[in-house]
Amino acid sequence: MKCEHCTRKECSKKTKTDDQENASVEVPSPAPESGEEKGEFHKLADAKIFLSDCLACDSCVSAEEGVQVAQQNAKDFLRVLNLNKKCDASEHRVLAVSVCPQSLPYFAAKFSLSVTDASRRLCGFLKSLGVHYVFDATIAADFSILESQKEFVRRFHQHSEEEPALPMLTSACPGWVRYAERVLGHPVTPHLCTARSPQQIMGSLVKDYFARRQDLSADRIFHVIVAPCYDRKLEALQEDVPTASPGFRGTDCVLTSGEIAQMMEQSDLSVRDAALDTLFGDVREEVRRHDGASSDGCLAHIFRHAAKELFDEDVGELTYRALRNRDFQEVTLEKSGKVLLRFAAAYGFRNIQNVVLKLKRGRFPYHFVEVLACAGGCLNGRGQAQTEDGRADRALLQRMRGVHAAGPGRTPETSAHVQDLYREWLDGADAPRARGTLHTAHQGPGRPADGRDIKW
Ligand code: SF4
Repeated sequence: MKCEHCTRKECSKKTKTDDQENASVEVPSPAPESGEEKGEFHKLADAKIFLSDCLACDSCVSAEEGVQVAQQNAKDFLRVLNLNKKCDASEHRVLAVSVCPQSLPYFAAKFSLSVTDASRRLCGFLKSLGVHYVFDATIAADFSILESQKEFVRRFHQHSEEEPALPMLTSACPGWVRYAERVLGHPVTPHLCTARSPQQIMGSLVKDYFARRQDLSADRIFHVIVAPCYDRKLEALQEDVPTASPGFRGTDCVLTSGEIAQMMEQSDLSVRDAALDTLFGDVREEVRRHDGASSDGCLAHIFRHAAKELFDEDVGELTYRALRNRDFQEVTLEKSGKVLLRFAAAYGFRNIQNVVLKLKRGRFPYHFVEVLACAGGCLNGRGQAQTEDGRADRALLQRMRGVHAAGPGRTPETSAHVQDLYREWLDGADAPRARGTLHTAHQGPGRPADGRDIKW
């Protein structure tokens, strides 16, 4: 049987009907230090963590990666907090937690709060545990979107029949990118946008920019990301993320929103709400959202930017047209009956299958496709939108969408902090340092896949 993410015939992933579904992951407990009491941290660490459905799928994840992914759990996080309590201050690791923008609506819906109040509740809880800094990772999504916008315009100008630079396929979803790199290969990977994902950029912001600012080496910071899915744990293993000390990963541990909520529910710590930190000191901001609850607004922002840059057209609200289903929609820019831009959003692996088959047959009508592994997008990530028995929690998802839509929005271009960072941190938006920090190269499998390699 196959997982929901993937429809390949050779996929060995077991599903809900199999015995191992929702088996708890065996995580070695840190050995208690002598004289250590089983205090609050250890009570929390005893919370059961489930790796239910999948990351990409079994056949794409090596045994070693599986072990490293399983080690990213609440116990590991609490182990570092406990060590800080015991060791000399000079040996403390600075605990920094970055919260993905798609996770905050989950906490808001779960605790019946606004997104900003939910961020304060979450931040207060993490600080009560001993976390030093809690950041909103929206700033990393700003960079990822801005770089994707520039790349789309560049590809549009470069595109020709002989050397097709289009379509551009998004690369922010690690489930999709992993699948494209490990299974599909050429001719799909050259179409992946080279902009790093928000998680990778947040890794560099914390372990490079913030580390330098605090005069710390990267290894003194333990960076945790709170994310909507397990796929991001696999993404955290990526080693080419630039940091202040080469050889250290940008992210040390990814915890899903559900794992954090479980810790919150099982804690009897008295918690005071606290405002989120920023990378720049004491400045604190209201939480703002990008367009597009499912995707952090990648398609919408790139569409508007391309319409303006390429055709001098101002686009307001986008009109989506559902194609096969509501997870496969298109948006067009038309002038005098001619289609100037045709973008699509394809969520879930069945729609991805359709996109890839079209691409391989050479009959591809889109300039750009926003591809996400989860049907319904990131709010529906498996780390936060499931009931306890592993089913999709539709009522919670509905509330998340409502909370997200109600929050104040802003565009990546209007962030003064991002423009400052381009100047101070990256030597300018077009500097080699910016390109090296904000872009990556996508690999394919050992040999290019032809049509027979993909067994749907
Ligand atoms: S679409 Fe799903 S797998 Fe991909 S980043 Fe979002 S939550 Fe994770």
